[in-house]
Amino acid sequence: MDVSQIQSVAILGSTGSIGQSTLDVIGRNPERYQVHLLSANVSVQAMFRQCEMCRPALAIMQDAQAAEHLQKKCRQAGLDTEVLQGNDALCASVSADDVDIVVAAIVGAAGLNSTLAAASSGKRVVLANKEALVMSGSLLMQHAADSGALIVPTDSEHNAIFQCMSDHSLSNSDAGIEKILLTGSGGPLRNCSIDELRVVTPQQALKHPNWSMGPKISIDSATLMNKGLEVIEACTLFSLELNEIDVLIHPESVIHSMVQYRDGSVLAQLGRPDMRTPIAHALAWPERIESGVTPLDFTELAGLHFEAPDLERFPCLRLAYEAMQTGGTAPTVLNAANEIAVEAFLAGSVSFLQLAQLVEDTLEYAKISPAVDLTTIIEADTEARILASSKLDKLRALSS
Ligand code: NAD
Ligand code: MG
Repeated sequence: MDVSQIQSVAILGSTGSIGQSTLDVIGRNPERYQVHLLSANVSVQAMFRQCEMCRPALAIMQDAQAAEHLQKKCRQAGLDTEVLQGNDALCASVSADDVDIVVAAIVGAAGLNSTLAAASSGKRVVLANKEALVMSGSLLMQHAADSGALIVPTDSEHNAIFQCMSDHSLSNSDAGIEKILLTGSGGPLRNCSIDELRVVTPQQALKHPNWSMGPKISIDSATLMNKGLEVIEACTLFSLELNEIDVLIHPESVIHSMVQYRDGSVLAQLGRPDMRTPIAHALAWPERIESGVTPLDFTELAGLHFEAPDLERFPCLRLAYEAMQTGGTAPTVLNAANEIAVEAFLAGSVSFLQLAQLVEDTLEYAKISPAVDLTTIIEADTEARILASSKLDKLRALSS
């Protein structure tokens, strides 16, 4: 590959779990990719180390003080990296002509604007930030269609589904797909009784058996909200109805999802639970590159198990189905309330079971509108956060 074909990559959320895995994959393929832009929230030390290692043209911090601090460190170290601050700078830089690929790996609604900017400016979007897709849904897909952007799903399940759909099925609504079997490990609390769930600590909930991930998605995996967000994500990415998706608990996390066809064929994508595989796939598709992931050793597998999810013990999955069924801004409200609830649980101010309660209460009282444009979506997000915070105060008052 000659130098003119080297692709310029922007990694949004570079200091996080997905960001670091992306840098690892890029480091294995220096003849194909060059890091142009890195962005993070507040973690100056981690960002400075990444700047020393990758020498990006741009580093963008969300936090103003962090940006100032980083700039000083870069100058002292003699790095050429230009340091910018804030979401507007991030959106403008992501949309610029010198970026080919945007890895959208900011956690939560904070990634909405930059993900939309990437989708609106015709980039290849390596999409990990599922919350942005849950919130903006068809709007994001429409922006991508209008600009010619290529959205490559990077959430492991959606990447698996993408891999199991032939090019034909991706563009043809009657490709004979009967069902998507969306797998999930069931999280660290899969076998807990309701009484055990009542007293689960953040440390226990953070301990995922198979995947190593950031704190927010780890808690979402423990409540099964992650699977719920993923059902919504799959509906949006692949233009599916809710009844075309079955969630299947598969504790070993070997099969990352499956597509069932009309003729009885079921195609699955298998691999180790390591995000470098879907990231490498999404960066290079339709080609294949080194990811650093060792292949599965089938002789080592003790067995593959499957069960239906339990919506009684894990009501967040039910709430996500209901929000998708309601439509409009309901998924945005679900996501906003969940972000508030996860933060409160991690801070020790609500119990594990109250997490779902908070989301359910917020959904019950929030005003739901058609998600016609970004302003409506952002308003719904803001209002849902206010509502969830007031419900949170009431819950706290009750338990004190
Ligand atoms: P993480 O917490 O490890 O990292 C989050 C990154 O986002 C950090 O770089 C942080 O600095 C940045 N960030 C946080 N708040 C920000 C803000 N307000 N403005 C700008 N940047 C901000 O999270 P993660 O586990 O890497 O997950 C990132 C996204 O990828 C999430 O949407 C998650 O659902 C999705 N995802 C993650 C995994 C995984 O294995 N970690 C798998 C599938 C999907
Ligand atoms: Mg996933």
